[in-house]
Amino acid sequence: MSQQPSPPPWLVDVVHDIEDFPKPGIGFKDLSPLWRSSSATSRCAVALADGLENIDVVVGVEARGFLAGMITAQRLGVGFVAARKPGKLPGSIESIEYDLEYGSDILELQSSSIAADDRVVIIDDVIATGGTAAAAAALVSRLGGEVVEIRAVLELMALDGRAKLAPNRVHSLWEVR
Ligand code: AMP
Repeated sequence: MSQQPSPPPWLVDVVHDIEDFPKPGIGFKDLSPLWRSSSATSRCAVALADGLENIDVVVGVEARGFLAGMITAQRLGVGFVAARKPGKLPGSIESIEYDLEYGSDILELQSSSIAADDRVVIIDDVIATGGTAAAAAALVSRLGGEVVEIRAVLELMALDGRAKLAPNRVHSLWEVR
C-alpha cells in the first residue's frame, strides 16, 4: 500500500470540520481559524508558494480563493487576478459556465488580466469535485495563459477532483482522505 502524505502539523488545528453545513449531509471545511492566525497564514503563504518559479500571475477563485491566492502572489512577488462570479467584473470579460453537483455556475475573468504566454498558478482554498478550478484553468487557457499548476490548501481526495483537472498539475497542502 502506498504511503499517504500526512498534513502539515500547523494546518491540522486551524481547519475545523463543520457537519451539515451549508446543507444537511455536507461536511464543511472551515478555514476561518487559519486566516484568524497570523502565524498560520504566514506558513500557508510559504507552503503555497513553495517550489514555484518564473510565475507571472496568480489567479484566485471567488471567494475564499482570494485569500489563499493573494498571500501566495505576495509571497511570489507577482500580481493577483480575481476569478469572479458573474456580473462582478467591469469591462471586457471572458466567461465560462460549468457544472456543479446540482445545476451550474459561471466564472469570469477580465480579458485584459492575462497576457499571452503568462505563466499562471490557480489557487483555491478547497478542491472538492474540481469543477471550479477546472473552469478557472479553461478561462486562463482561452486568454492565452499557461496554467503551470493548480494549488489548494485542502483537497477532498474522495471526490477525485484530479480526474477533472487532468492534465493540469495539482498540488494541495493537505490531501484529505
Ligand atoms: P469544487 O468545484 O467542487 O471543487 O468546489 C470547490 C469550491 O467549493 C471551492 O471554492 C470551495 O471553497 C468550496 N467547497 C466545496 N466543498 C467544500 C467543503 N466541503 N468545505 C469547504 N469548501 C468547499
